Amino acid sequence: MKPFVSLPFKLLTLLIVMLLMTGALITRLWFVKIQDDFEWQQLQKRRLAIQQYTLLHEIVRNRIETSLESYVELKATKGNHLSSIITGLNEEFDFLQLQWNMSDLWLLDDKFKTLFASTALSSDVVDMTAETIQQQAPVSKIICHEECDLLLSLPVLTNDGEIAYLAVSHSMLEVLAFLNQSTGADLAIVTTNQGSFSGQELVKELAILPPLSPSLHQQMSNVINTAGDTLNMNTLLTSGARIKFNDIHYLANLVPLNDGEHNSFIFIVEDISSYVVNYQRIQNVAFIIALTLFIVLSALMLLLTYRVRVRMLKLARNLPLLAEHDYKTFRSNKPEESRWFIDEIDYLNDSAEKLSDELEFLDKEIDQRTRELENIAMYDLITGLPNRNMLNFQLRKAFQTLQGDERFVGLLFLDLDDFKKVNDSRGHTIGDVLLQEVSKRLKKAITSTDIVCRFGGDEFLVMVPSVENAAQLESLADHILQKFREPIQLDNSRFYMSTSIGISMTNDRDCSTEDLIRQADVAMYDAKDKGGAAYQVFDDNMYQRVAKKVLLESEVHEALKESHFFFALQPQIDINTGQLVGFEALLRWKHPVRGMIAPDDFIPVLENSEHMIVLGYWGLKRSFEILQNMALAGFGRQKIAVNMSASQFLDPELLPFLTNLLEQYTVEPEQLELELTERSLVVDFEKTLSVMQQIRALGITFSIDDFGTGYSSLSYLKKMPVDIIKIDRSFITGMMDNKADMQIVESTVGMVRSLGMHVIAEGVETRAQLRQLRGYNCEMAQGYLFSKPIAESDLMDALSRDWIEGVWSGIEQSR
Ligand code: C2E
Ligand code: CA
Ligand code: CA
Repeated sequence: MKPFVSLPFKLLTLLIVMLLMTGALITRLWFVKIQDDFEWQQLQKRRLAIQQYTLLHEIVRNRIETSLESYVELKATKGNHLSSIITGLNEEFDFLQLQWNMSDLWLLDDKFKTLFASTALSSDVVDMTAETIQQQAPVSKIICHEECDLLLSLPVLTNDGEIAYLAVSHSMLEVLAFLNQSTGADLAIVTTNQGSFSGQELVKELAILPPLSPSLHQQMSNVINTAGDTLNMNTLLTSGARIKFNDIHYLANLVPLNDGEHNSFIFIVEDISSYVVNYQRIQNVAFIIALTLFIVLSALMLLLTYRVRVRMLKLARNLPLLAEHDYKTFRSNKPEESRWFIDEIDYLNDSAEKLSDELEFLDKEIDQRTRELENIAMYDLITGLPNRNMLNFQLRKAFQTLQGDERFVGLLFLDLDDFKKVNDSRGHTIGDVLLQEVSKRLKKAITSTDIVCRFGGDEFLVMVPSVENAAQLESLADHILQKFREPIQLDNSRFYMSTSIGISMTNDRDCSTEDLIRQADVAMYDAKDKGGAAYQVFDDNMYQRVAKKVLLESEVHEALKESHFFFALQPQIDINTGQLVGFEALLRWKHPVRGMIAPDDFIPVLENSEHMIVLGYWGLKRSFEILQNMALAGFGRQKIAVNMSASQFLDPELLPFLTNLLEQYTVEPEQLELELTERSLVVDFEKTLSVMQQIRALGITFSIDDFGTGYSSLSYLKKMPVDIIKIDRSFITGMMDNKADMQIVESTVGMVRSLGMHVIAEGVETRAQLRQLRGYNCEMAQGYLFSKPIAESDLMDALSRDWIEGVWSGIEQSR
């Protein structure tokens, strides 16, 4: 990760660098200026020294020249002869020497003949005189040997026209003394011994000439030796140089004694320590000022940017709170506004705040939507009950609490019996209200720890999170069934709702919710197959039954298409006359692989399924065809009794279907009898009654099949348009050796007759049974004694053979 450097710090660094650079530049310029000033000062000093030297030299020279000229003039005026000048010089030389402060004096004629000489004539004097002769004007020059003297030569003209040349040597000490006084510098005359001069010669080659005090000589040599190895003479000549010795700073300059000549010089050495100290002090002060300024400015800048930095940092730390949806802290942590002017951070702040508002709003919106979605996802909209998602969730939760063998999670799968019919006949609005009523009842029936949910359609599930055994679940199922017994009153209608309940349970925490629900579902179908309004606990065999049912259902579909179904018709005989009363149509299935399948093997399985209804309609239509065929074959108007499944009987299509058949076929309604079992009568009494009445109104008759096996009493049946009661085969079979059965048969026959209904004994196999029945005044019988059910294909033959003058021949045989 890169290290963090605050933006103001970066800015600050940039500014500091800029400040440093400009500061350094300014300081540098200032230093240069100070240096220049210092050097200019030195140059000034040097120039002054040279000027003063030149001036002094000039003054001295002029003074000597003027003095000599005035003296010569005076002498010449007196005698007007050269001789008077010579005499004067001889007499007055000592005086003149003192007065003019000169060393020696020579007077030569133009042939260089010595007219006067205070000392021996030197070649220098001769040279000078020669030059004067040539120029006919005064000539002066400084000549150095052991010491340096100013040599001056001038022509002297007497009144009588004689010419001579006067030469004077004058010690330089005077000039140097004056110069020393006026400049305050130490002076020495130095020479270079070389013949030619280039300027590049090192300073150490300079030799100091006397006279000089020993201390001064020492000081001068020190100065020369200190810089002698590095400095060349040109430097000293053109600009002078600073030389430090023994902590004293000297300014050294060389001035040529004679203009244009570079063999002897005045070496001017000035103690400039005070200047240098001053200069260094100024430099230090400048540096301190620059540094202070820099520090102060930096601090000022830090101080000025402090608030900006703090605000920016705060904002930067604050922004991630938006991502964490912590709007409250975000607002409370808001950076302060700038004091006087609005700046970028304020804009940023504003934007961030707007963003936070918008985000918070969106968050709330999302929360709301999520909750709505959760509700839709977890609850049923019609009943407000939890839905299957919620159930799955709760089941999984309950499974996790399972520990071992002691406690179970129980599940009740409820499916309302015949709810589809209510929905189809009364509309979905009523259906929804009924579902709401059902959910209320279920909620009342369960405890607070149980959860009831709508699984879909007319299916409900009750989850019992903790039970000890199946008996507890059974008693709950029983309790629920009780609650359903009371009719539901909606406006003017009463509804009798019932439900089939399947029960499953598990103590296996790895059980899947799907498995437990499927088991309860299978058990529920089992309860439904048994006629509904019942519960059934799941057992493993149920799966096989279900599998069988599924297989059968698909096969039924195929069988109907391929005409594998047909009827077997069993004659029903009047016991007293032997007359054929009619036939009962019994369904047969000729399976291409499995052979003949008995109705008991597939009808109970198909009961309550859509296929059973389809099959039922097929049967009704087939019966009409058989009736019509019999009539066409010349067997008159026979009667056929058709077995009705409970679900088919309550199907709203039944009435229009029958009406349609009666219109299509030349069959009278009396020729058709519908057999209903007791069980199908009790499912929905009012509904059944109204359907029966409507069908009865068409002229179709009813018989009650398997009488005695259900709960119905005859007085109950009296309220219905029932014509015939069929006493169940089990009683007829048991009648001969079982007194109870015998009494049941006898009393049933008696009561049926007394109620004005007719009675048929089923399954009569022996003559003894027939005799007995006749003794009880039973009217009709049906059974193997007369005939086994006759396949459709054999029916016409059988009729031709056994039906003679209305009498079924079988009964004759049995007599
Ligand atoms: P069920 O209505 O009680 O029909 C009488 C049953 O008794 C028939 O069995 C018949 O063959 C048999 N049976 C008749 N006489 C005797 C006898 O003397 N001794 C003995 N042991 N049995 C006799 P099946 O044909 O196997 O029919 C069984 C049941 O299947 C019927 O009982 C009926 O409830 C149902 N069933 C038959 N056909 C249909 C149909 O088309 N629709 C509906 N819904 N159910 C049908
Ligand atoms: Ca029957
Ligand atoms: Ca029967």
